[in-house]
Amino acid sequence: MFVQLLLSLAMLVAVATGGWLVADAVGALVAVLVAAAGWMAFDHGRAARAIHWLRSGAIEPMPQFLGVWGEVVYRAHQQLRSRARDLAASDARLQEFLAAIQASPNGVVLLDQLGRIEWCNRTSAEHFGFDARRDLLQLIGNLVRDPAFVAYFQSGNYDRELVMTRPSSSASQPMKVAVQLHPYGQGRRLLLSRDVTAIDQAETMRRDFVANVSHEIRTPLTVLAGFVEALQTLALEPHEQTRYLGLMASQATRMQTLVSDLLTLSKLDGSPPPGRTDWVALSDLLATCLQEAKALSGMLCADLPHRLIFAEALSLAEKQHLELAGSRAELHSALSNLINNAVRYTPGGGQVGVTLHWLDGRLSIAVHDSGPGIEAEHLPRLTERFYRVDRSRSRETGGTGLGLAIVKHVVQRHGGELQLSSQVGTGSRFVVVMPAERVRRSDVAERGLQSAHRSEAVAADTSDQRSDQGFDQAVK
Ligand code: ADP
Repeated sequence: MFVQLLLSLAMLVAVATGGWLVADAVGALVAVLVAAAGWMAFDHGRAARAIHWLRSGAIEPMPQFLGVWGEVVYRAHQQLRSRARDLAASDARLQEFLAAIQASPNGVVLLDQLGRIEWCNRTSAEHFGFDARRDLLQLIGNLVRDPAFVAYFQSGNYDRELVMTRPSSSASQPMKVAVQLHPYGQGRRLLLSRDVTAIDQAETMRRDFVANVSHEIRTPLTVLAGFVEALQTLALEPHEQTRYLGLMASQATRMQTLVSDLLTLSKLDGSPPPGRTDWVALSDLLATCLQEAKALSGMLCADLPHRLIFAEALSLAEKQHLELAGSRAELHSALSNLINNAVRYTPGGGQVGVTLHWLDGRLSIAVHDSGPGIEAEHLPRLTERFYRVDRSRSRETGGTGLGLAIVKHVVQRHGGELQLSSQVGTGSRFVVVMPAERVRRSDVAERGLQSAHRSEAVAADTSDQRSDQGFDQAVK
């Protein structure tokens, strides 16, 4: 800058000296004035270009000057580039920050002083039914009309969170969301939301479960207490005493069965799924279930027992030496629950059978009966704990309402699927589909029939095979 000034002065001195030498003092003055005017015009042109460039806002291209204006423009260019770099970096940080909030499973809404939406993430848009773009700058009070939310929003007291129903909730699929407001900045508010549908459902289930268990235990306990009181206070005949004691024993058994089923369920709930190292012979499982079904049928309908159709399934399981990977106790519990249900709900003389089918490497084990059938509306709820269609039949035959819940749990733990189908008046069909990786077969013809009781069962049931197949078609 100083050099520039010296050069300009030297130039003026040179011009004046030139003018003096060529003319006189007046000539020198004129020469200096002309030179100064020319210089000013030139300098003004450069200043105008520099200001035009600065006003344009574009950093590039930078005008090129020598001297002072070159320095000024160069410094301004450096400043602008550095500011642009800072801006880009902070914009990138902001975008990353917003992307992180977008990825959050929780809803985030930023509200201005008036309660208008300044920004919201996708999750919050789903929770509240917003349109994340269209509803920007809309008043939240106009968009979320739930009276509980409106009261909470207006109260100004945001110490607790509010649980409200999501707008997309329906009777068949209730959805809940917990919301809480947090004031920040100058009168702004942060609205956070999280889906609590699963927690709400679990809490409802827990309450229902406790209520159901209490009810199931209270009923036999009340009956037992009544009989105890009768025995204590009344002078009963010996035969009456025997009858009362028999009834008391059956109530005690009912409670024992209930406790045992509850323990089974809690074990299933709390243990890891069974591994795939232990293999259980399906023929053994079926043979055991057949024996149990015979005993149960004899007990319930001594005069007219059921026709138990297991022969084909048993012989296939033996011929192909079918094995299932998993827990023997659990698999037995699942199959025996289904087979015993079929016996319990089918009147004496009816058919109860098991059939096996291969489905693309998976094995389906179908338990079918010719009982009263179940109306379609009950089918989706049948595996719920304590859900019963025929309450009195369930109680009369020692049911706890937990059998199918146990079956479903066991089947799912083994990676399988439980399928139900039924026709009122025709019968029901419960199918356990085991995944291919938990089924193995080794067709060894020589294995033959290995145990005497199984041979007997096959002989007794062979005559029923044809009707079994016929029934299968009917319920499919
Ligand atoms: P429960 O101990 O009462 O039998 P489950 O969970 O085993 O409980 O079965 C639930 C309900 O499903 C039963 O109460 C009964 O009404 C119905 N059910 C189950 N199996 C059959 C079947 N084979 N035929 C008709 N109804 C059945």
